[in-house]
Amino acid sequence: MNYNKKTVLDVDVHGKKVLLRCDFNVPQDKATGAITDDKRIRAALPTIQYLLDQGAAVIACSHLGKPNATFDSFVKKQTEKGKDPATLTEEAWKKSLAQLSLAPVAKRLSELLGREVIMAADVVGPDAQAKAAALQPGQILLLENTRFEKGETKNDPELAKKMAAMAEIYVSDAFGAVHRAHASTAGVAAYLPAVSGFLIQKELEVMGGALANPKRPLVAILGGAKVSSKIGVINNLLDIADTIIIGGGMTYTFIKALGGTVGTSLLEADWLDYCREMMDKAKEKGVKLLLPVDTLCAAEFSADAKPELVETMAIPDDRMGMDIGPKTIALYTDAVKDAGTVIWNGPMGVFEFPAFAEGTRAVAKALADTNAITIVGGGDSAAAVAQLGFADQMTHISTGGGASLEFLEGKELPGVACLLDK
Ligand code: ADP
Ligand code: MG
Repeated sequence: MNYNKKTVLDVDVHGKKVLLRCDFNVPQDKATGAITDDKRIRAALPTIQYLLDQGAAVIACSHLGKPNATFDSFVKKQTEKGKDPATLTEEAWKKSLAQLSLAPVAKRLSELLGREVIMAADVVGPDAQAKAAALQPGQILLLENTRFEKGETKNDPELAKKMAAMAEIYVSDAFGAVHRAHASTAGVAAYLPAVSGFLIQKELEVMGGALANPKRPLVAILGGAKVSSKIGVINNLLDIADTIIIGGGMTYTFIKALGGTVGTSLLEADWLDYCREMMDKAKEKGVKLLLPVDTLCAAEFSADAKPELVETMAIPDDRMGMDIGPKTIALYTDAVKDAGTVIWNGPMGVFEFPAFAEGTRAVAKALADTNAITIVGGGDSAAAVAQLGFADQMTHISTGGGASLEFLEGKELPGVACLLDK
């Protein structure tokens, strides 16, 4: 995968109409529709501001949530959910769409930019087309939720063509959506010169750099809930890293594979062989693979459960592993101390419960204290680092959950592959 892609700095956008794919998939209050966290909107500001300052006319677009683009799909989905068919009217469908309108985003964006954001009533319909045609340099138009078009998630070339026809350049800055080959994230690049915005540029530079040409030693810290969701990451990083540190719920499948007892800990029996394979691969490749030596366990999965310290290889039958213990913390802190690069994905324990957050906190602190390039990928890991107050001390926190995982898996990301090479 080539991470060296052209950016907005490599094209002349002056006086041009620019189609800008953003990630405005913001969390909203279910009852009121109010945006509960505008981080993603704020993250898009540097690229938007740059384009406007350069005299571009910006046609921004994004998806929001998972609307049903057709009445039929609405009925099917709601029926599957067990809803009463009598309530599944056209009106109910339209109401469900209205709840996922980007209008509140336009309002917030306008407040943040301190200028008008023109809102289109559709994506490529008559309103969007008229407003895009009339758009002047220095103005910004926001199209409606791209997933209101059924062709979006199917990457329909007809939809991509219509979107492209409104603009002269395509800029992608929606890192959170680059792992999806949709019309607005990848398809449209077939019809316009396509470059990245500043958000994607930084992701490619820092994370791409760490994978392609890392400052060594490269230490990867992998945790989180399940081995099964991280197999691709472990496998890919075993080819690249010097040391791999395991923590979190996936620990116990490894421990079981080694012949330890794991009690009622999270265990994925189907993946025991895979863990053995990965440990063999580590040996073959000369990669140091570190597993927890001590564990904080509990009688039940609960915030009030009393933490008990045990050896990881010998967890009692009626106890489950919830966090790494102090010996492991010392071991892991030592392993990142002299690293050149640290890539971290997945919390070390059930950090949502304060009694089991110490392992994750200690690792976050170790990353904050090292001189290494530190990269955090994964939705929960990013949330944990922010919650524990270390966000400012990391080199880079990836803005994409699923996208950063696929990045670490070494997979080709359609929304990146479609951009022009440098
Ligand atoms: P990310 O989103 O960063 O990729 P994951 O989604 O893989 O991370 O995992 C995050 C979740 O893993 C957290 O909700 C955390 O509570 C859970 N977790 C960590 N350690 C354990 C454990 N020992 N047992 C059960 N769940 C755990
Ligand atoms: Mg997660």
